[in-house]
Amino acid sequence: MLNLNQLIMKFFRTLATLFMACVAALMSTTANADEPYPGNYAKAPRFKALIYYSTDAELAHVQFAEQAIAFFKDLNVGDGFILDTTTSLAGYPYDRLKDYDVMIVINASPWAPKEREAFEKYMENGGGWVGFHAAGYHDANTKWEWFEQFLGAGTFLCNNWPPQPALLQVDMTNHPVTKNLPVEFVAAKCEWYMWNRPANSRENVDVLLSLSPKNYPIGIKDIVSFGEFPIVWTNRDYRMIYLNIGHGDEEFKSPTQNLLLINALRWIVSRSPKGNPFK
Ligand code: ZN
Repeated sequence: MLNLNQLIMKFFRTLATLFMACVAALMSTTANADEPYPGNYAKAPRFKALIYYSTDAELAHVQFAEQAIAFFKDLNVGDGFILDTTTSLAGYPYDRLKDYDVMIVINASPWAPKEREAFEKYMENGGGWVGFHAAGYHDANTKWEWFEQFLGAGTFLCNNWPPQPALLQVDMTNHPVTKNLPVEFVAAKCEWYMWNRPANSRENVDVLLSLSPKNYPIGIKDIVSFGEFPIVWTNRDYRMIYLNIGHGDEEFKSPTQNLLLINALRWIVSRSPKGNPFK
């Protein structure tokens, strides 16, 4: 038991300790005034993005589009960037497109020659493209030679069915898009496309993630048993990234995959010819 004197002494010692702690905190604040501050709060929207999508597509691709728009709108809470959406590029000649640091193309592709021309000019002049799943779909009927070399993967070859989750492997672990991802993870349920010329057969293409061969054979009705299966890649001749992700209404259930999507957007935007808006 403490007597009264001891209690008084303890009270004053505690008071003195608190006082010294306050002085130390104050001095440390003053001393750090010129130190770099780790936060970088936006004073204005950092960049401008255009989502291009279609409602006139197979149900699973429309479901993905709706959820993807919600996902990117959610990223924009607080107005970190300007986000416009359109289902048609008819009103987007090159002069309008060039204002956008990035186009997020979800499940659509232009068919009208003028729209294709504007898009080509946009990409040839430093435009940014984050393309998902059906946005990269390309076969003999598409008749768009420029797009084939832009995508860097040839034409659609085959896919698994039904859509299912799959083990993805990171092929380039030191890339800004993959550096904080596990080297392997199970991606959300998807219809995975294989291409007739694997993206990694081209010198100017970097495959960032691919479907792990451990998945083979993949599919129940339609089965893919072997072959190169790139899933995320970039053609270094353009400021572009393609992600085969984008089928159905379960695509945003994997936090790892969501992180990959954010990384992809951030990487493309960070290389805007107008400068890195995140700095
Ligand atoms: Zn699909």
